[in-house]
Amino acid sequence: MAAELQSMEIKIGHDLETAFDRAVALEQAAEALGDTVLALRAKLVQVDVQTRWGELSSVIPVMWQANQWAAENDCRPLLARSHLLMARAYRDLGDPASSLEHTVRSMEALDEHTPPRVRLTHLMRLADALGETGSVDAARERYRQAERLAATIDVERHVTTINNLAYAEYEAGRHDLAWEAVERMLAIGTAHGHEFDVLILDTVARVQIALGHHDEAVMTAQTALQMNDDQGLQQAAALPELLLTLAIAQRHLGTLPQAQESLERARLICEEHGFVRILVQVLQEQAELHAATGDHRRAFETYKAYHAAERELVSRQQEARARTRQAMFEAAEARREAELFREQARRDPLTGLRNRRYVDEHLPELLSTAAVTGSTVTVALVDLDHFKRINDTCSHDVGDQVLVAVAKMLDAVPDPTCTGLGFAARMGGEEFLIVLDGMSPAAAVARLEDLRASIAARSWAPLTGELPVTVSIGVTASHPHSTQGELIALADANLYTAKNKGRNRVCATSVTPFPERRRYRDAPRPGAG
Ligand code: GH3
Ligand code: MG
Ligand code: MG
Repeated sequence: MAAELQSMEIKIGHDLETAFDRAVALEQAAEALGDTVLALRAKLVQVDVQTRWGELSSVIPVMWQANQWAAENDCRPLLARSHLLMARAYRDLGDPASSLEHTVRSMEALDEHTPPRVRLTHLMRLADALGETGSVDAARERYRQAERLAATIDVERHVTTINNLAYAEYEAGRHDLAWEAVERMLAIGTAHGHEFDVLILDTVARVQIALGHHDEAVMTAQTALQMNDDQGLQQAAALPELLLTLAIAQRHLGTLPQAQESLERARLICEEHGFVRILVQVLQEQAELHAATGDHRRAFETYKAYHAAERELVSRQQEARARTRQAMFEAAEARREAELFREQARRDPLTGLRNRRYVDEHLPELLSTAAVTGSTVTVALVDLDHFKRINDTCSHDVGDQVLVAVAKMLDAVPDPTCTGLGFAARMGGEEFLIVLDGMSPAAAVARLEDLRASIAARSWAPLTGELPVTVSIGVTASHPHSTQGELIALADANLYTAKNKGRNRVCATSVTPFPERRRYRDAPRPGAG
């Protein structure tokens, strides 16, 4: 499936309907396999076909979705592909600046794993986009690079690359350079027995017209038409362009009825397939031709049709732009929601503090940064003393309120205005973790001692009545090779010591960690016995 998709991505072929149906089938198969990347690639092949059909307003949102997914899941090939397709869609929308931007971003997403054929596709789009935005020198440089790469692949791609260069030179008004490219292209193709397709012969004829070789242009265009009929190729999209080129050459030669005939053929194809962009040009040319033959009535009628087609084109472009903005907005919204969800999943719902998941994600990183910068991270485990008594004597609900109040005091300890990245987290039950960064261990211990003292000094009577609320704190500081597991075990061992020494105290001595979690021994109450 991947191989088939890649070949469709590189070259969609002439039979767009078949390609579209196949891509729909591939998308369904990929979804059945649960392979999102393949499913999105198949979707993008459909979207590629739809772009060629001119269905711009519906395709861009789909491209954006694939693009967002690729960015979030760091899928570079899909990111490159979606940007490339957006670049084409924006070109068709008549927005060359956005097209260039997406092209550049598509290039940035390529890497050393990108197959040469895919790289060539992107390089060509970049060259074309540079040409379309008037950066002709930069475009030439990219065409040169593309040509070198194409020559290593096959004749067809080599010829196509030179064709695009020739067209860019033609558009830039450098007809001499355009012709040079055409001659080189024809020589290479002929030497390898390559059959030129309609698009390429259209370029040749255009350049011939530009150079004033109208009879040659007619011959070229007619050869292409004949070829198209002989081979029964369904190059519907390229055909009206070729017929328009033929008509222009015929008008220059003064064979106006034939020119009108070519335009009529072009118009029918455009109307049948909804190629509005070409239709506009065909109708304009047709109106002028009617005027040139003195048929002012038909000139006027055709001119009205030309205007209607142009309005239709503009409204399609506007609709596509509006849908694009909508899709961008929705993508940003979805991203914000995902971030919010991610943030919520890393908080404890009762106290609003960070949770263990957050600790596991952030503490190792904090430790490795500290190891590099040579700073120390202080880790403290805070456990409420005789909390069970509060639950049992008052109520579970009061217990919860105490947890919330203590959590609030804990949260103020890692000063958010200092440069450190410290935080407070609820590890579970009535046990909390405080991580202090960007201060000396002595300063950190002093701060924790202040915390302990202010919890003990607070008036808890409205909540717990007679029962005091105190905490025991076990502290340890990192060294350059500390791991999260080691530090928490050391802090836990110190917490154990604090409990055993009578609770309501901070213990920061350096001790060997206990191999397992344990239950505290009840120390004699001060003053008792
Ligand atoms: P020590 O001083 O030795 O730590 O004694 P302790 O009673 O605090 O410790 P113990 O581990 O025996 O009991 C902890 C209690 O915390 C038991 C459990 O019911 C309670 N607890 C755990 N989570 C919550 C909670 O979310 N809300 C409330 N209200 N109580 C909780
Ligand atoms: Mg406790
Ligand atoms: Mg406990």
